[in-house]
Amino acid sequence: SEVATMMDVPVTQIISACMSLGMMVTMNQRLDAETLSVVADEFGYDVEFVTSDLEDSIVVIEDKPEELIERAPIVTVMGHVDHGKTSLLDYIRKENVIAGESGGITQHIGAYGVQLEGGQKMAFLDTPGHEAFTAMRARGAQVTDLAIIVIAADDAIMPQTKEAIAHAQAAGVPIVFAINKIDKPSANPEKVKEGLAQMNLLVEDWGGKIQSHDISAKTGEGVKELLEKVLLEAELLELKANPNKNAVGTVVEAFLDKGRGYVSTILVQAGTLKVGDYVLAGKNSGKVRAMHDERGNDVRSAGPSTPVSILGLDGAPQAGDKFNVFADEREAKQIAAKRTQLQREQSVRTQRHITLDEIGRRIALGDFQELNIILKGDVDGSVEALTDSFQKLSTEEIQVNIIHKGVGAITESDVLLATASDAIIIGFNVRPMGNARQIADKEEIDIRMYSIIYDAINDLKDAMEGMLSPEL
Ligand code: GDP
Repeated sequence: SEVATMMDVPVTQIISACMSLGMMVTMNQRLDAETLSVVADEFGYDVEFVTSDLEDSIVVIEDKPEELIERAPIVTVMGHVDHGKTSLLDYIRKENVIAGESGGITQHIGAYGVQLEGGQKMAFLDTPGHEAFTAMRARGAQVTDLAIIVIAADDAIMPQTKEAIAHAQAAGVPIVFAINKIDKPSANPEKVKEGLAQMNLLVEDWGGKIQSHDISAKTGEGVKELLEKVLLEAELLELKANPNKNAVGTVVEAFLDKGRGYVSTILVQAGTLKVGDYVLAGKNSGKVRAMHDERGNDVRSAGPSTPVSILGLDGAPQAGDKFNVFADEREAKQIAAKRTQLQREQSVRTQRHITLDEIGRRIALGDFQELNIILKGDVDGSVEALTDSFQKLSTEEIQVNIIHKGVGAITESDVLLATASDAIIIGFNVRPMGNARQIADKEEIDIRMYSIIYDAINDLKDAMEGMLSPEL
């Protein structure tokens, strides 16, 4: 009934649309996310999920094509530790002062905007690394349009470089490589590109399609050209948003400031946020008292792809929480209460991530076409052998994807990637390290450990055929 009202169609039509999908529903029934999307689509609507996992908190948007205008790309910088992520982010922030503004001290607010000489804008998420990127994604927030992956030219392709690539690819985010530290005498950018080629990642000057640029985050050489390449890549994505509606977006970070109260940095993704708007972010709400950019300047309104730090929320929402603007406090408070209740209900229900035991049943139901696997092993040889064998298990019904593989223990980052991509983790002669086990238990991620190649292959094969005997 609520969906019918939102789309302004008779409720009987919604019921018959559900029936044609084989579902007998009543007016008061809560539809799941997938059904909602399919039904809305039938009536020419798109469904935007305010928080992807809370079925009740939805708004139906109806952006017409002519309402959409180009928006700036939102970029994340990833790469191996010490390869220069922070240096690059700092350099870009300092150098690209928006025309006419004083180059005052910038503060870290979690994200910042830049304007290039040609006038084009970009937004950067200022928390480098794929952990932050995937943690947000695991919470259902895909904010990043493009990833810059920094690789030091005086080093090789390192484990975290590979991780960053896997995380960007799993998210379907295009990559631009920044081959850094070319000011160093020991730098050898060609060696890095060769390493990428060996991973089947061919950059442009190696005859491939992936953009890359040699830079020095220290001297700034090549950074301008790098950003131009990022913009070119962004153009292909045809990023658009409707600026003329109530703002929606994602929380980047939030903290309590002794003097000013809760300070939240949010990234507006569509619509325009204004001072005085009533905002609901996660479970927190409040009227926007003031907005600032990363230079501490007052901002009166913020359109799509603009990061701003806002004052006025009654608490600190979590990074990755969605925010929406509501007509008034009452409406926002109602939804906030509903969300809290739903979250309570949901924490009782289990989080549904795929497990090996379940694969066969899901395949039989026909709602499962891709099995994502993260594979970690003690030596390269066994990782490659298992990759080959696993991929050969693909059938017409189900595709086996190795979304990330590597040598070394199962890390927290592997578990995060599994959470965000609904993958199972297979360890060969390796175990979870640090907090990885704990997080996996909490998120209900299936980790399987083997020491005999044959066992690993057989288990997967049996699971896909629905023949695996449950793990005791
Ligand atoms: P992150 O861990 O990836 O964020 O790396 P940082 O930005 O902290 O850089 C690690 C170290 O490399 C620091 O000592 C930087 O000063 C240095 N560094 C970063 N970029 C360059 C560069 O282009 N040239 C040189 N010579 N040093 C760099």
